[in-house]
Amino acid sequence: TPPSLLRNFCIIAHIDHGKSTLADRMLQHTGVVDARAMRAQYLDRMDIERERGITIKSQAVRLPFTKSTGDDAGTTYVLNLIDTPGHVDFTYEVSRSLEACEGAVLLVDAAQGIEAQTLANLYLAIDADLHVIPVLNKIDLPGAQPEKYAAEIAHILGGDPDDVLRVSAKTGEGVESLLNAIVDEVPAPVGDADAPPRALIFDSVYDTYRGVVTYVRVVDGKLTHRDRIKMMSTGAVHEMLEVGVISPEPVKAGEIGVGEVGYLITGVKEVRQSRVGDTVTSNVHGATEPLGGYRHPNPMVYSGLYPIDGDDYPTLRDALEKLQLNDAALSYEPESSGALGFGFRIGFLGLLHLEIVRERLEREFNLDLISTAPNVVYRVVMEDGSEVTVTNPSEYPTGKIATVHEPVTKATVLSPAEYIGAIMELCQSRRGQLQGMDYLSEDRVEIRYTLPMGEIMFDFFDALKSRTKGYASLDYEPTGEQEADLVKVDILLQGEVVDAFSAIVHRDSAYAYGVALAGRLKELIPRQQFEVPIQAAIGARVIARENIRALRKDVLAKCYGGDISRKRKLLEKQKEGKKRMKMVGRVEVPQEAFIAALSTG
Ligand code: GDP
Ligand code: MG
Repeated sequence: TPPSLLRNFCIIAHIDHGKSTLADRMLQHTGVVDARAMRAQYLDRMDIERERGITIKSQAVRLPFTKSTGDDAGTTYVLNLIDTPGHVDFTYEVSRSLEACEGAVLLVDAAQGIEAQTLANLYLAIDADLHVIPVLNKIDLPGAQPEKYAAEIAHILGGDPDDVLRVSAKTGEGVESLLNAIVDEVPAPVGDADAPPRALIFDSVYDTYRGVVTYVRVVDGKLTHRDRIKMMSTGAVHEMLEVGVISPEPVKAGEIGVGEVGYLITGVKEVRQSRVGDTVTSNVHGATEPLGGYRHPNPMVYSGLYPIDGDDYPTLRDALEKLQLNDAALSYEPESSGALGFGFRIGFLGLLHLEIVRERLEREFNLDLISTAPNVVYRVVMEDGSEVTVTNPSEYPTGKIATVHEPVTKATVLSPAEYIGAIMELCQSRRGQLQGMDYLSEDRVEIRYTLPMGEIMFDFFDALKSRTKGYASLDYEPTGEQEADLVKVDILLQGEVVDAFSAIVHRDSAYAYGVALAGRLKELIPRQQFEVPIQAAIGARVIARENIRALRKDVLAKCYGGDISRKRKLLEKQKEGKKRMKMVGRVEVPQEAFIAALSTG
């Protein structure tokens, strides 16, 4: 397809604003999926399948669309709809997907208005020089306020509120006008067809049957199935086995040229050899300059993962190795803990990433795991000038420390104006610094703060939601680091430091943290046959203490007196409970206790 007939675009939206449903209508309207085969969230379905490794995720769909308005009515164009991951953990991937497009549909729920995530992605789209087409969705809803939110959008983007398109992804109303607008407004891709090939990798997934499938957008030249290709960041050369496009299932093509979007299958075995953001060229007569800024994804949070049953350690090691095949952002190294035995320190892009990895390890590899409270990365400069990067609080240096540095983020909160006070109070209590505030309309504001990453990453969003009755939305991005007055708080059970409970906190909140965590642990750790003192300490100084009293004998006796079915139930219950218990010294500690630190904020 000549570039003049190509349009590459993405849809950016806050979760639930209707991105998947709009994609469904586009698939249907362009006849890519016929009415019989249509099912809701067509592309999402493939998402789940991909998660289980049985099919190729549809990251880019090719939609043949015949113009119905204007001078070019009757001309058939090829629209490539490129999906973007919506979550803040994957901002880097979002920005790469955007690089593969010339236009973005900014989809906003006409009953909700713009949310923080929409805004964050919108700014990325503007940074990537995309043409933005603002669209209000769900105009069929009785509660829709298209006038109000069109004004809000015009306030942010400039332009006339009347130019904001209105659609219902549910009924299909307005979808054809939108497709026409995409052809009219989104620029055709520009590239040099005669230059050595350069293609941007905007996603790569691992497929059990086909190996790594790499999604690319060709910028210059063309890629054919006969090429040997080179990854420009590593210089690695691979045999090309297949080139194709997705519409909506993968279809082989002999080649893909300037502006086209498609997939490559090579002999590559791990997604880390085919990384998002890298440039693909040909091995002979290849390009010399890669496309803009390839970056390694850096882990933002670390957590320890330990098998509950120590014998599962080799299984966990193999499982991590397998997971890494399809998760280039996952990094891990072995570590050992006095309390938990042998396990791994794992680096994640964010908490969602952590949850996904943990769930997959448990579900797909049948493992029972203990995960320790996640933490961000600290840089500690010693008085002698040496530096320590701390990814595990128990490894916090004990020598003479000159300065400690923590990562910081730029956070954006969107909320009804009535909650401004509550939001500012929360941000202040998390050591935030106000950067600015703007009214989007008379009753909605955008509030910007810089906040330490360690203060925003864990329970901040829940706190924000509860203070704003669920109305505020949040987005943040890492922006660097700052010096901070931090200390390590240790927890001792029966006088012994339990390394897995150590945390790094700000000096001003260390005392409150110690008291809260000791209190939580007292609730979470069941009574044992003996007394268990709990202490929180900074160095040798104890800052809080609690005591778990010993279990009285007659309580146990009573349990075994009842009728047979009750007894069995009780035993089963105990077994259930056992699964998640870990012996720490002589003390049985439940899984929840290891992440209790999270909910003490
Ligand atoms: P996504 O998270 O942005 O992909 O949103 P979905 O496409 O999954 O839609 C979220 C919810 O909104 C679903 O229950 C959809 O059925 C509903 N929805 C999407 N578009 C419309 C619309 O135009 N009108 C109405 N009434 N509901 C819609
Ligand atoms: Mg969706």
